[in-house]
Amino acid sequence: MSHATLRQAGVDPTARRVMVYEAVARAEGAVSAPDLLGTLCAHMNKVTLYRILDLLVEHGVVARHTGPERTAHYCLGRGHGHFHCTHCGRCICLRLEDAHLERLVGPELTGLGRVEDVELRVEGICSDCLKK
Ligand SMILES: [Zn+2]
Ligand SMILES: [Zn+2]
Repeated sequence: MSHATLRQAGVDPTARRVMVYEAVARAEGAVSAPDLLGTLCAHMNKVTLYRILDLLVEHGVVARHTGPERTAHYCLGRGHGHFHCTHCGRCICLRLEDAHLERLVGPELTGLGRVEDVELRVEGICSDCLKK
């Protein structure tokens, strides 16, 4: 499954690349590189991890976006938004339908061009932190 996805995107599915891709896929929400390294450090060093992430982003397999304090976060899929908890730092993916995005930004973009990717960032306090 992961191998096919990578190959389809033009990425040679080496063991480490598949490992990184699966770690991003498994993560709940979007993860930062240091968090990924925490689960993968037995298999690769930081330089290798960053190189693989760059490659996956370049081929559109993994999306990179700016999280809290300008740290890069990674998740699967493009064109969706994120909710960042300013309290615990959790980054939750908002899976927006194209129709939602269209309604959200469409009127502002009329005549400006064609939308190919959208980065939407919402900040707040997550429900878990609100309970504390
Ligand atoms: Zn939180
Ligand atoms: Zn995401």
